[in-house]
Amino acid sequence: MSVPAERRYRNTVGSIVSWALFRLAIVIGVSLVVVEYVGWIDYSTWAIITLIMIYAGVIHPMQVQYRIYNEETRTVMEGTLCSTCKYFEPTGVLCSRLDEHVSEDTIPCEGELWEPK
Ligand code: SF4
Repeated sequence: MSVPAERRYRNTVGSIVSWALFRLAIVIGVSLVVVEYVGWIDYSTWAIITLIMIYAGVIHPMQVQYRIYNEETRTVMEGTLCSTCKYFEPTGVLCSRLDEHVSEDTIPCEGELWEPK
């Protein structure tokens, strides 16, 4: 049973970076609150906790999302008409000419605008 096209690509490089920046802002905010209001904490402990939060809240989720992105887009990156077209934008799995997402089942121009890389 195939997965609907709209569910197939949950991540793009742009969304991965955007979510990472959003989570980094939260981690920095929490870290600043901790250093300001937790009286017993010294700076070395605070720095270690902050680094752990950055890894757990920013870097590790990015790695997971990027792995999912690679798995989900492998077919469209390697085996479609769009992947050989000069308008194909792999970081967004996007046709830059029509500004539409492509998938292994969907060629937005139906091949009419295809041009070699
Ligand atoms: S112009 Fe057509 S073939 Fe090329 S990337 Fe866009 S939809 Fe795909």
